[in-house]
Amino acid sequence: MSNDPVREWILSEGKATQITRISPVGGGCINLASRYDTDAGSFFVKTNSQHCIRSIGPSMFEGEALGLGAMFETGSIRVPKPYKVGSLPTGGSFIIMEFIEFGASRGNQSDLGRKLAEMHKAGKSSEGFGFDVDNTIGSTPQINSWSTDWIQFYGEHRLGYQLKLALDQYGDSAIYEKGQRLIKSMGPLFDNVVIEPCLLHGDLWSGNICSDKKGEPVILDPACYYGHNEAEFGMSWCAGFGGSFYNSYFQVMPKQPGFEKRRDLYMLYHYLNHYNLFGSGYRSSAMSIIDDYLAMLKA
Ligand code: ADP
Repeated sequence: MSNDPVREWILSEGKATQITRISPVGGGCINLASRYDTDAGSFFVKTNSQHCIRSIGPSMFEGEALGLGAMFETGSIRVPKPYKVGSLPTGGSFIIMEFIEFGASRGNQSDLGRKLAEMHKAGKSSEGFGFDVDNTIGSTPQINSWSTDWIQFYGEHRLGYQLKLALDQYGDSAIYEKGQRLIKSMGPLFDNVVIEPCLLHGDLWSGNICSDKKGEPVILDPACYYGHNEAEFGMSWCAGFGGSFYNSYFQVMPKQPGFEKRRDLYMLYHYLNHYNLFGSGYRSSAMSIIDDYLAMLKA
């Protein structure tokens, strides 16, 4: 009996009788990635060890698998199908998923917009805004406790969480206090909007978007939760979405009144996260968004 749960799974439930090759896959930020070639096809495996400071243990892969599974279930945009999450005897953990052979291009922008909107439309939740597990955005915890009130959820678990982190780790009471004022006064930005919980990828930037061999868009490495669909564009400053992307998106998920007024509010979460992860270079972007809203809202 082998003591390697990855091999064991591939050779049992994975329906392979032989692993022909294991090769490293580069490009990850946090974990060790490998490709397992077998007589039943290829598998993509990520592992993290206890020694890796930035890894957050099995719960991180648990969150990734649940997110990939939820997106996969919508039958819309292509994502790798998650197969198995577990612990390694060495103390680390692993995730096994479908291996996707990537194509050379970034894929068609218009297809990406349409399929993303189809995912938002299909991925509904009866429990409101949140997700079954907390996950991470970069390596920052992302709290997904269920709420039926989106404005409360976004204020507390997204902006509020990041502001508190900035206060705790940098002692930045200026951004904390102004940010809290914005949270208390942001209600009017949502006037006349019907907000339904939609399944979001949650970390949609160019590094997590690619295409398969057929040129179909593929999205990876999610930080999924059910939220206002517009929050998906919070990383658009790193995504390079063009006009054809948005045109196709809005044909499936029509633009809501005041969309433009909320754009920066949704980017603010990610700017604050970048400030918390990478330091003061991102502070002024976050602060100027807050200042502009406080002026607009006369708060
Ligand atoms: P990390 O969790 O360390 O950030 P990623 O999820 O970014 O790791 O994966 C590392 C690399 O592996 C990515 O850059 C991508 O090229 C490749 N990759 C990710 N998922 C798959 C997959 N399902 N099939 C094939 N390659 C993948």
